[in-house]
Amino acid sequence: MSGAVERLGEVRGRIAAAEREAGRAAGSATLVAVSKTFDAGHIRPVIAAGQRVVGENRVQEAQSKWPDLKAEFPDIELHLIGPLQSNKAKEAVALFDVIETVDREKIAAELAKEIAKQGKAPKLYVQVNTGSEPQKAGIEPTEAVAFVKRCRDVHGLAIEGLMCIPPADENPGPHFALLAKLAKEAGLEKLSMGMSGDYETAIAFGATSVRVGSAIFGTR
Ligand SMILES: *Cc1c(COP(=O)(O)O)cnc(C)c1O
Repeated sequence: MSGAVERLGEVRGRIAAAEREAGRAAGSATLVAVSKTFDAGHIRPVIAAGQRVVGENRVQEAQSKWPDLKAEFPDIELHLIGPLQSNKAKEAVALFDVIETVDREKIAAELAKEIAKQGKAPKLYVQVNTGSEPQKAGIEPTEAVAFVKRCRDVHGLAIEGLMCIPPADENPGPHFALLAKLAKEAGLEKLSMGMSGDYETAIAFGATSVRVGSAIFGTR
């Protein structure tokens, strides 16, 4: 058994335990296995072990490996979890099943245009910069609820949930709590939060999906 498959089993076990501990239904937190920087040879065993929801942070890198893997495993659900440039909206809509990083007006407009043109509608999340970090993507928390509304009303986009990446050097709990509060205000049910170091905490705060990379695939 590959090391990644063994670690996948451990992560699944810890997710199940965190769900139980939080009094949540089994399977209510979806594992998104983040395969960025790993090639198809590393990813295939993890898919063969039953993992179907996967994440990549760069459109170009995903284009180089996922069309073939999706042909091999048609029920893959591929998430874009990294920043989206508006000149990549066309490629992103064509390749991804879920885009988690809608964070500004221009991207919303480009996505709406491509969705209409391609007749294909990925599920969409709005990324919130919960720590207001200048270098980080995501809409400001104070603007998030209004932005979700504009995505719907101005651009006709159905937003499913919110996503965040807390500051690396802070306790993530308050950031997860903030994201959950904003989602509630915006009337959204999905919360993408938690990574290798804090996915159990995220589940305690209501994450409906956790994005786990290195704890499965190893250090990058
Ligand atoms: C890389 C990445 C992850 C996974 O990070 P790990 O710490 O390796 O689990 C999750 N979310 C985003 C947005 C990422 O870019």
